[in-house]
Amino acid sequence: NLNITNLTKIYGEQTVLDKLCLKLKDVHSLVIIGPSGGGKSTLLRILAGLEPPEDGIITINNESVPSDEKELRDYRKGVGVVFQAFNLFPHLSAIENITLPLIKVHKLSEKDAKSRAISLFERFQLEEHIHKKPSQLSGGQQQRVAIIRAMALDAKFLLLDEPTSALDPALTSEVLDTILTLRREQKDLILITHEMGFAKNVADHIIFVDQGKVLEQGLPEEILKAPKTDELKAFLGKTL
Ligand code: ATP
Ligand code: MG
Repeated sequence: NLNITNLTKIYGEQTVLDKLCLKLKDVHSLVIIGPSGGGKSTLLRILAGLEPPEDGIITINNESVPSDEKELRDYRKGVGVVFQAFNLFPHLSAIENITLPLIKVHKLSEKDAKSRAISLFERFQLEEHIHKKPSQLSGGQQQRVAIIRAMALDAKFLLLDEPTSALDPALTSEVLDTILTLRREQKDLILITHEMGFAKNVADHIIFVDQGKVLEQGLPEEILKAPKTDELKAFLGKTL
């Protein structure tokens, strides 16, 4: 469940999110699409508690996103976030990238952190790479490690901002498969993507964000096959 009321974000003179509203029930995977600069990443960062909005109220699964900086710090720990690129700590091995946050932020013992990390690496067929540094991994492998890290935190839900945009097509499908696996395991996720075919497969619901508003929303088939607004028609014409 996701409820957003009058969410407003302003950078300088620019209103990036303009009284954005959204009310969703029984949606477990939400996909956000829209043109560049429309406000998608800003929305995701606010949902992650990484940035305070100027105005608006957000509740996710009936828990509100706090506005107080101290409460935000705790809130962030419960959210898994994967960005476009530069996700991993370059000086740490793949497995340390998973275990260190678990130990430092979530206060797990080293033993528990390791066993949790290793079982995730096994599940995603990366166990032979656990001691490599990010620079020794392919882009797709790095991104899968980033997704594993977000999952390891046992987040209530995952936020993914174009997790495949830095990858070539072969690696993209690797990462998309990983995300589909999360989906099958009933992990709630919110994903920004420009891959419309994938959006259709993974989404329960799609929102089209443009000019800081939700201009259109609905089931994947409705949104992608029968766009209503000129903006969405133009956008799909460009990406399909
Ligand atoms: P893309 O598809 O290119 O990633 P987006 O929909 O994710 O685009 P945002 O990153 O949310 O777009 O940016 C929305 C607008 O806010 C843009 O015009 C951008 O220049 C502006 N913006 C984003 N972050 C900042 C910031 N930290 N300071 C000033 N302006 C910002
Ligand atoms: Mg973006």
